[in-house]
Amino acid sequence: MITASARAVFNAEGSFKQTTIERRDLKPHDVLIAIKYAGICHSDIHTARGDWGPVQYPLVPGHEIAGIVTQVGSDVSKYAVGDRVGVGCMVDSCGKCVNCHKGEEQYCLSGNTGTYGAIDRYGHYTQGGYSTHIVVTEDFVVKIPGGMELDVAAPLLCAGITTYSPLRHWGAAPGKKVAVVGLGGLGHMAVKLAHAMGAEVTVLSQSLKKKEDGLRLGADHYFATSDQETFKRLAGSFDLIVNTVSAKIDINAYLSLLALDGTLVNVGAPSEPLPVQVFSLIPHRRSFAGSMIGGIRETQEMLDFCAEHNIAPEIEVIAAKQIDEAWDRVLASDVRYRFVIDISTMENE
Ligand code: NAP
Ligand code: ZN
Ligand code: ZN
Repeated sequence: MITASARAVFNAEGSFKQTTIERRDLKPHDVLIAIKYAGICHSDIHTARGDWGPVQYPLVPGHEIAGIVTQVGSDVSKYAVGDRVGVGCMVDSCGKCVNCHKGEEQYCLSGNTGTYGAIDRYGHYTQGGYSTHIVVTEDFVVKIPGGMELDVAAPLLCAGITTYSPLRHWGAAPGKKVAVVGLGGLGHMAVKLAHAMGAEVTVLSQSLKKKEDGLRLGADHYFATSDQETFKRLAGSFDLIVNTVSAKIDINAYLSLLALDGTLVNVGAPSEPLPVQVFSLIPHRRSFAGSMIGGIRETQEMLDFCAEHNIAPEIEVIAAKQIDEAWDRVLASDVRYRFVIDISTMENE
């Protein structure tokens, strides 16, 4: 077994404590990654706090992982020691089902193996990226393009792909009007990506506090959802709405903003239901959809797209001892726009 330092929570209410965890010895197709940076995703908080159901503790969250390969298994062909690599929200899938064959491993019919909080094929409980090392099968590792710094690469592994995939699937492009609800970690990536894809981008945020940022990130328009005028003014106007909000919102009000044949895709994952009135959908042949991260091939495509278009998340790099504080700020919508843990600060403690 390989020992790694990590930061874990020990119950749903608790704060982070330093711990050590064990990573499996390398199987023939495994790579050992020395983690350099790990992003903080709101899903880490939902999971650790039990929002989505019971979870086993201690839990080491983190599924926005960027690091360097330090060892490879005997049969590894895709990576070599020294490669700069990333790992996102999943570390395995069955590889055999129809969805895996399509390269949509996140929708594996047997369920993908989450980077943390899941049982892997060896019967081990998976632990995530708030740690110094991780062992992952090479098929679930992506290459970080040359010239892209590891700290900004990390959030792309979840926030980047989770917004890139629906924007591609529902055709964000010139001539399309795209709205992004919530300007947090996912939301700010959605704005940058949709803008780079050529769409006309509108941010729908709770207030106008971050308007300057939103426009600088690539939005063409910015409205406050606390102002009821916004809903009257924008009624029936968007081809695609990407809802990144982590809490329950009045989804019918947002559906009313869709144009004919428009789609509202929920990537935000609040624990409460979002009740839909069918009359929010029927009048303009509207769709209400969901989307989960993206497949490995598409994750690599997204990284290469970001490198080509010079797209990077706006990050605030923190030390391991600041994770609790960062979580509080995420919960207060006070994130601009992704916290990233400098894992070297963990090794020194
Ligand atoms: P985040 O950084 O906290 O951003 C969420 C944003 O939603 C906030 O910045 C805020 O934006 C808005 N918001 C928060 N509470 C709100 C409320 N009560 N009413 C209205 N707006 C509110 O979170 P994130 O990391 O981007 O994640 C967002 C959600 O996506 C989470 O639920 C997460 O679990 C989920 N997620 C899903 C996937 C997937 O595969 N589908 C992947 C990753 C994350 P404003 O201040 O601009 O209003
Ligand atoms: Zn995430
Ligand atoms: Zn499968």
